[in-house]
Amino acid sequence: MLILMHQAATEEQIAAVVRKIEALGFRAHVIPGAQRTAIGITGNPGPLDPGFFEGMPGVIEAVPVSRPYKLTSREVKPEKTVVRVGEATIGGEEVAIIAGPCAVESYEQTMTVAEWASRLGVKFFRGGAYKPRTSPYSFQGLGEEGLKILAEVRARFGLKIVTEAIDHESADLVERYADVMQIGARNMQNFSLLRRAGRARLPILLKRGMSATLEELLLAAEYIMAEGNYNVILCERGVRTFAQHARNTLDLSIVPALQRLSHLPIIVDPSHGTGRREQVIPLARAGVAVGADGIMVEVHPNPERALSDGPQALTLPMFRDLVEQVREIAALIKRMEREPAPMG
Ligand code: PEP
Ligand code: MN
Repeated sequence: MLILMHQAATEEQIAAVVRKIEALGFRAHVIPGAQRTAIGITGNPGPLDPGFFEGMPGVIEAVPVSRPYKLTSREVKPEKTVVRVGEATIGGEEVAIIAGPCAVESYEQTMTVAEWASRLGVKFFRGGAYKPRTSPYSFQGLGEEGLKILAEVRARFGLKIVTEAIDHESADLVERYADVMQIGARNMQNFSLLRRAGRARLPILLKRGMSATLEELLLAAEYIMAEGNYNVILCERGVRTFAQHARNTLDLSIVPALQRLSHLPIIVDPSHGTGRREQVIPLARAGVAVGADGIMVEVHPNPERALSDGPQALTLPMFRDLVEQVREIAALIKRMEREPAPMG
């Protein structure tokens, strides 16, 4: 259920509704909007009687939310969410670029990519310190040592750090060292980790599971938001299909489909989405053209030597080309949104 407050509702009237929801044993989520404040209710096992709230001062109406996901939906919050990470944003005017190696392998390797990112004006740096690998014998990441290298990237270049947490222990450390916590495709339905992410003080970058539907992705985001963390960024990273020309099939149609239903920002990862270096730039361009709020790509100074995901890593010169092209497409899309083609 969603309680819509009058535009002129006072803080005290909002607080009274929150108290009432909590007294009933449920959780209240205050969602300020451009026009009015809404208060979402979660934790109720079944439909609530609107009469509980409709007589209260400042309340316009109590409306049942028809979809299984609530806090993620446009019904609850019509305006787009802009996730703020210091002075950088995802979901705002600028198309965000998140770039870096698949894994933090060494100080040198990480700093080389970070220096390029910084020179190219990229604001977000990615790199895994904890790697969820298919084989237990593959490189699993440097752990806390990797996080320390990432913290140094932030100190030296001012880049915002995006890195994955794979369990509760690594989530505690990621929270200490990073700016955005990534939950990977393999953990999209690790519900206990999602709840932990919901209690984190960092924004969460939530990647789509490799065979997850749109609804499952939104419900995973709902787990995070239901715990009180409303800064969630969704990420399309390809799904498994019969295709053999690519590692995964990048499902770009999910971008407008999600934007219709949800206010959360959505970014596209053409690196995992294709698994092949030569497909990354064309699909990054396509991701921006389709309206994504950002792009996440893997870059390595020497991809043949990469300890993970070498075949999909962009070389440094390719990285420069990608940034240039993504910005050109982003500018074109902005112009088209501002000046739609004349009718007729
Ligand atoms: C990653 O971003 O490095 C990663 C492991 O991605 P995914 O969870 O999408 O496979
Ligand atoms: Mn990777």
